[in-house]
Amino acid sequence: MRKIRHIRKFIINIFSIIKIILKSSPIIVTKLFICNVLLGIVTSLNVYLWKYLVDSATYSLEYGKVGEAFIWLGGIGGCIETINLFNRLSIYYREIAQESMNCYINEMVIEKVNQLDMSYFDDSKIYDTLEKVSSESGARCVSILVMLVMLLQYFTTLIGVTAVMASLSGSIAIMLCLIMVPIFYVSISIAYKQYKIYVTRVQNLRMVDYLTDLCLKYENIKELKIYGAALYLKQKVSDIYKKHIIEDKKYKKSFLFKLTKTDLVQSICSTGIKIFVLYRAILEKKSIGDFTMYISALDNMENSINSILDAISSLYSDNLYIENLLDLLKMEGGLKDGKKDFSVVDLKKIEFENVWFQYPHSDSFVLKNVSIKLERGKSYALVGLNGSGKTTFIKLLLRLYDPQRGKILINGIDIKEYSIESLYRSIGVVFQDFIKYPLTVNENIGIGNLKRIDDFEKIQFAAYISGANKFIQSLPNEYQTILEKEWEEGSELSGGQWQTIAISRAIMRDVSILIMDEPSSALDPQAESDILKKMQEMMDGKMSLLITHRFSNMGIVDKIFVMQEGEITEFGTHEELMRTNGKYYTLYKLQADAYKR
Ligand code: ADP
Repeated sequence: MRKIRHIRKFIINIFSIIKIILKSSPIIVTKLFICNVLLGIVTSLNVYLWKYLVDSATYSLEYGKVGEAFIWLGGIGGCIETINLFNRLSIYYREIAQESMNCYINEMVIEKVNQLDMSYFDDSKIYDTLEKVSSESGARCVSILVMLVMLLQYFTTLIGVTAVMASLSGSIAIMLCLIMVPIFYVSISIAYKQYKIYVTRVQNLRMVDYLTDLCLKYENIKELKIYGAALYLKQKVSDIYKKHIIEDKKYKKSFLFKLTKTDLVQSICSTGIKIFVLYRAILEKKSIGDFTMYISALDNMENSINSILDAISSLYSDNLYIENLLDLLKMEGGLKDGKKDFSVVDLKKIEFENVWFQYPHSDSFVLKNVSIKLERGKSYALVGLNGSGKTTFIKLLLRLYDPQRGKILINGIDIKEYSIESLYRSIGVVFQDFIKYPLTVNENIGIGNLKRIDDFEKIQFAAYISGANKFIQSLPNEYQTILEKEWEEGSELSGGQWQTIAISRAIMRDVSILIMDEPSSALDPQAESDILKKMQEMMDGKMSLLITHRFSNMGIVDKIFVMQEGEITEFGTHEELMRTNGKYYTLYKLQADAYKR
């Protein structure tokens, strides 16, 4: 029963992949298939022509008429040329189809990952799946395409040559199939074992890739040099490889032994069948041409059956790997999207009502009974020690997660009722770990508002507000400079300069809420204060929320929240909080005293 389910799944998977293959480049793939069917037909035709050539050659030798033999010879030459042409065409179509398919799969995977909720990425299994998908899917899909094409070609050849053989003996085809069964079985079981080995190694392979990438990144090289960590990591990578090599020697030896045994059995049986064909041909007084045709047909049959079984076992192995891609494509985002459109001008207030939240696969609450109200036209700051839950608060506000208990309301309506896309359109955010795109300055800023990515005036304005304009002017190609030294003509920025680029990106958006998580931690106090003041002006009449460890800028915000171990413990203006003598007062004094020293 399990085996039947297994085979059923295999067939369903192959059909799903065929759909993907056809969608990636329908015309080229159709041409490829037609080309290979024709290849199969011409190959079988060639077998017939040989019979006529040999018979007419024998006749010519006896009666001195050579004309007919030349015609058949010409036919064979034409056939071989056609086979060569179709082979070349097939390779050409296959290469183009492969590239199109790689591109299509890449697009599908990026799109799917973009659709999935953050909660998927809190489970390490998704990274193993992604590793399997990114390292294997493209090649495996291509291999499936090649195997399907081969199947078609060899099936066509097989039908043709079986028809030839049937004129001598119908049972030969059955005998040939039977002797191929052991090798087919061994190939399938080896493919399954290899996949199982691969699955146990995925995490290690991911680690190898990650550590190797880490050692090759420009920004890491300085630290790796100073600590000598590169050699330590190199050892780790090579330990993983060596462990795999030792395992492989054991596995591959046993595979080799099994395959050699089945090869031997197959050769003996195949020679037996050839002797049988010879015997039947002599018994039935067949011509030399017939005999040549049968032997050639037999070789072709054996080759076709071998190739068909090879293709099936290869399809089976590819299918095991491709299941990861199909599983990924089947994954659905868990957050239910709302229908209400949230417009930039709509925002009046945001409320957290008794919100409790714990991360997936974690057993403690990070936010505990958080209740807070934010109003349009005001600026807020959220302060607290590391790990107190500030970033998590933002993630909930951005609806990257839903709380387990309590509600988040926007204008009195549950955040879940708004369409996520319209919500994101209205929010600008600078994350602590913002992305450093290996693109031009223009693009790095413009990505903040894709509809206006070509609006140079807006990009310049954003750079002016963040103060990035000052250093951009001194870059070799100003706004056209590619960032990051790893790329040709790329320029490296300091941490603070990168932060101003990230801030400019958020400014590019026409938003009603601006959220900044430690946006200026790498800037000097003067630059930080200048930027925050300019942003306050820009967000006048809208809403901004700043997470910061620097208390020197608290004077510019309207209200401050203090978060401790997932709870909002204090709330008020800077002056009010200083008077309460609580956590805020302690943290403020600690920082102020440190400056005085
Ligand atoms: P803050 O921004 O105040 O430094 P965070 O909101 O980042 O704090 O983190 C609050 C707590 O949540 C920390 O204990 C952190 O370890 C935990 N945490 C953060 N992200 C995750 C996650 N994806 N899965 C599990 N726990 C997390």
